[in-house]
Amino acid sequence: MEDSNFRKGDAKTAIFGSEKMLQASPVDKIPDGPTTPEIAYQMVKDETFAQTQPRLNLATFVTTYMDDYATKLMNEAININYIDETEYPRIAVMNAKCINIVANLWNTPEQAKWKAGALAIGSSEACMLGGVAAWLRWRKKRQAAGKPVDKPNFVISTGFQVVWEKFAQLWQIEMRQVPLTLEKTTLDPEEALKMCDENTICIVPIQGVTWTGLNDDVEALDKALDAYNTKTGYDIPIHVDAASGGFILPFLKPELKWDFRLKWVLSISTSGHKFGLVYPGLGWVVWKDKSYLPDSMSFSVNYLGANITQVGLNFSRPAAQILGQYYQFIRLGFEGYKAVQENSMAVTQYLHDQIGKMAPFVNYSNEVVNPLFIWYLKPDYAKKAKWTLYDLQDKLKQSGWMVPAYTLPNNLENHVVMRIVARQGFSRDMADQLLNDITGAVAELEKLEYPTPTRIAQDKNQEVKGSVFTHTGMPHKKK
Ligand SMILES: *Cc1c(COP(=O)(O)O)cnc(C)c1O
Repeated sequence: MEDSNFRKGDAKTAIFGSEKMLQASPVDKIPDGPTTPEIAYQMVKDETFAQTQPRLNLATFVTTYMDDYATKLMNEAININYIDETEYPRIAVMNAKCINIVANLWNTPEQAKWKAGALAIGSSEACMLGGVAAWLRWRKKRQAAGKPVDKPNFVISTGFQVVWEKFAQLWQIEMRQVPLTLEKTTLDPEEALKMCDENTICIVPIQGVTWTGLNDDVEALDKALDAYNTKTGYDIPIHVDAASGGFILPFLKPELKWDFRLKWVLSISTSGHKFGLVYPGLGWVVWKDKSYLPDSMSFSVNYLGANITQVGLNFSRPAAQILGQYYQFIRLGFEGYKAVQENSMAVTQYLHDQIGKMAPFVNYSNEVVNPLFIWYLKPDYAKKAKWTLYDLQDKLKQSGWMVPAYTLPNNLENHVVMRIVARQGFSRDMADQLLNDITGAVAELEKLEYPTPTRIAQDKNQEVKGSVFTHTGMPHKKK
């Protein structure tokens, strides 16, 4: 043979004729030598090959489809570090323009040319920044009045996303939770106010509760809070966690007051990578006015005549998402965003109606207010069923769908529900395919002779807990 080393990998080596394809991939130690890019590519690609197709992942809120031009723009900017503003000043300005656009979608009253806000990696960082700002404002006021600052707290419903638990732990701020119940499915303003005191840094209503898809009533909260603040002399503000709703409400419910039109809403955060329609790695936080963004969190820089405020937990970060967001604003415009969100809502509404008509299921709420909804097994059906929604989740996985089953948060933790998030890239035709697969899966599960392991485990669990719910964990109102 001319070249006995040909299997080691060179330009002539067939990828699947190479030695590498007979070796395990590295786990602990960097390989001794290099291999060809083609082989390395194939190995990495193939490790993720068997996973859910992102667009069939109905569990995520995060964008799984962008058009070719957006993808091209973002790929071309993949080597740009946002923090290098001296080198890439135009991206810093583009970022500030995005903040302006978002702030105006939320009806900011700020008159300054550049609105007070920040880019974030997602809502998690954006929520943190909103929360930290509220804490620092509270602390400054307390210190000026010679009052202690060692026991800050904030108030949120038990439907909080996990970032708020992280916020509480990392900054040592007590999280006071207003329970969600079957009767009270969103944050109860009066209950929230009962948990407030002089140490409350803010109340956090959610637009698009991750667990249920519902919206807390921010207008009612604002009104009750106004009376409370007047009575007590406090000035507790609101930070709205609008991870999903921030990009739904401005387009689909512009008349609904949940944003800066309300007196006590001083900051709002959202995920640019959820219904902002950009691939992952993007969040936004905006303050009602620069005066609510503590100086100690921000610094000002001047680029190309634009005075830009820098705020963030991270230093280096990708810039590509900014180009993606700005592209979407230009490409779609208000009407385009509205059309995409309307379609997602229409597909959600259709699925909600169809699933509500299937014998085993009942929807958690009659209304669909964001492009997601949850449902559960009818108590009567569940009593006889030999399966749970976890089994349905498994069955659907076999046809490539990821439709998650999970238990609701504290207080409702015996309720197993299933959720669908419909995003751009999920059509009516795909919805019909999914419905077919659900019908088929249920038909198979109904043929079971013996209960599934998850069903057996659930029954046991309920017996141990002496639950007030039916033995399948389905809602049974407390009398
Ligand atoms: C998704 C979500 C978050 C976290 O957002 P990321 O963009 O994933 O960091 C926070 N709050 C709510 C209500 C969410 O739905």
